[in-house]
Amino acid sequence: MKLRNPAAGKYVKTTKHHCWNWTGRRNSEGYGLFELNGEDLLAHRIAYFIATDEQPGDREVIQTCNNHGCCNPAHLRLGEPISAQST
Ligand SMILES: [Zn+2]
Repeated sequence: MKLRNPAAGKYVKTTKHHCWNWTGRRNSEGYGLFELNGEDLLAHRIAYFIATDEQPGDREVIQTCNNHGCCNPAHLRLGEPISAQST
């Protein structure tokens, strides 16, 4: 079953090479926030899931362009498990 994109219209799609900047709410670090069932989710993780059909799970989704507001799947890749990082 293909998930309908619940975030459609919340970011500006340009080209594959440019950032798709989130136009909705953002958290203090500048990441786009998307509300689903009363829960705040990170928009770039949703964008990654929609584009790849792959659940990031406990792994970080990294924006290779370093733009925290970017939702362009071409700029997103899976990183290390969040639990494995020391902060
Ligand atoms: Zn980008």
